[in-house]
Amino acid sequence: MLGAAVASLLLAAPATPADLRPATLWEAWPARRVVTTPAPCLRPAALAAAVRGLAGRHGDSLRVETAGRSVEGRPVPLLTLGRGPRRVMLWSQMHGDEPSATPALLDVVDTLLSGPPGAGAILDRLTLVVVPMLNPDGAERHSRRNAQGIDVNRDALVLATPEGRLLKALRERFAPEIGFNLHDQDRRTTVGDSGVLSSISLLAVSGDPEGTLTPGRARAKRVASLIARTVEPFVPGGVARYDEDWNPRAFGDNLTAWGTPVVLVESGGIPPGRPLTDLTRLNYVALLVALDALASDDAAGEDPALYDGLRRNADRLFVDVLLAGGRVVQPSAPEPYPADVGFDLLDDDAAAAGCPGGAAVGPSRVREVGDGRLLAAGRRVDAAGRLLLPALAVSVRESPRPWLDGFALDALARLGVGRVRWHVPPERRAAAIASAVAAAGPGRPTVQVVDAAARACALVARSRPSPSAATSLSATLDALTARGWRALPASSSLGGLARALACVDPGDPAPAPLVVPDARASLILLRPSAEGALEPERLEVEAVLVDGRPPAPSR
Ligand SMILES: [Zn+2]
Repeated sequence: MLGAAVASLLLAAPATPADLRPATLWEAWPARRVVTTPAPCLRPAALAAAVRGLAGRHGDSLRVETAGRSVEGRPVPLLTLGRGPRRVMLWSQMHGDEPSATPALLDVVDTLLSGPPGAGAILDRLTLVVVPMLNPDGAERHSRRNAQGIDVNRDALVLATPEGRLLKALRERFAPEIGFNLHDQDRRTTVGDSGVLSSISLLAVSGDPEGTLTPGRARAKRVASLIARTVEPFVPGGVARYDEDWNPRAFGDNLTAWGTPVVLVESGGIPPGRPLTDLTRLNYVALLVALDALASDDAAGEDPALYDGLRRNADRLFVDVLLAGGRVVQPSAPEPYPADVGFDLLDDDAAAAGCPGGAAVGPSRVREVGDGRLLAAGRRVDAAGRLLLPALAVSVRESPRPWLDGFALDALARLGVGRVRWHVPPERRAAAIASAVAAAGPGRPTVQVVDAAARACALVARSRPSPSAATSLSATLDALTARGWRALPASSSLGGLARALACVDPGDPAPAPLVVPDARASLILLRPSAEGALEPERLEVEAVLVDGRPPAPSR
């Protein structure tokens, strides 16, 4: 009996060469990277240089050509390798701002040609057709679309884009038996309602609206199952099924219909605290393991039910920050009411990866006000017992010695100011706008330049404020307005002050709420010194968020 059990185990698990085991590949990847530039920072010129480097290193075993040109004339490199009769095509960055798999394709090519055990067998049986960056014009400007403003992945039928025509021509030239369509999805996509970010989502793309299971699509499902179980240990719970079943304009669907079944691999979010480059690492491991299985036995041992049983992607269930369990006060609703506040910080990939000259940070965006129990969050802040007040709005008047620079904005932000109305005479308007633009930055109040005669806010700041002498809201307002706020009617209660603090026009019968979806996340967290206390003297300023961030500390 024992002998039979061992024999069936051996049959079920064909020997995998040690160097192509997932854990080995994962560990080896940092030393094997062809380019160490994080994917969001890799521009077409650097990619082309890396491809030339690969061609020089591997000589005749790697064929490199310019498969075509983008709208703006950038070359689209094509790499082919292997001697096998069965052809596999892999392409990345059809969407210019979805780069995670692009460096992984270079790493896969380099590893296979560097001859670890098992690589030779793959290259004997398969010919690989690799397009690392299909949309270089989009990549150059970090945009999804090409230079015509067209989404190449919605151009499979019209073929108005040179990039789309190129992809279709490659399919006709090589007739691959399977294709890998490599993308990035929204980084806040979750695996169903599990609260776990969907780091990799997969789709064995259908070639028709009915989802007919052809032999080719069955192969794609087996490969998707293999990728799912291969990457899961590196991102526990973080593998999902892509949520769109059929898109008549897209390439994956039409390539499948034209005879090349496609596996869509979407790289998504990575668990908090881990580097974005782990997405490239996951693609590297997944693709090498998949190619090995395709070469050895067409992934025959994989169960498509594993793929079919994956939970689906879900949108809108993850926020970067959730302030949970507090009560909100707004000018439109001055009585405190229970509401969670969830918001995103909108750091883009280039900023998150630290690309040189990377894009600006932010702006933040409120996503939910109300019951947030269904939301998972990158960071959850317990706001129980706290009041959440929209950040303050103040007027600043032009003075003989202008003081409203970046440092002054930081000082205002530390006192809870999120918006500044800057009153200047017409002849100073252009200079004031230029100065406000120069002073803008993450965690700083927004500045609106208005006419000197325009309605002033109830709160007026007359000079660069000194730090508050105490932590109460009243001391903070004293520092901001040189005690000017105390002359306001109803200055004794937060509810009475709510409109004044937000610079609402006293004649407005229906002021807009300020903490609403799509607004910037600029808030003050207040802690009452006693249950139900709403007097500014008895409210401690516990934290300030301006545009989703704590203001810069004073120096
Ligand atoms: Zn995409």
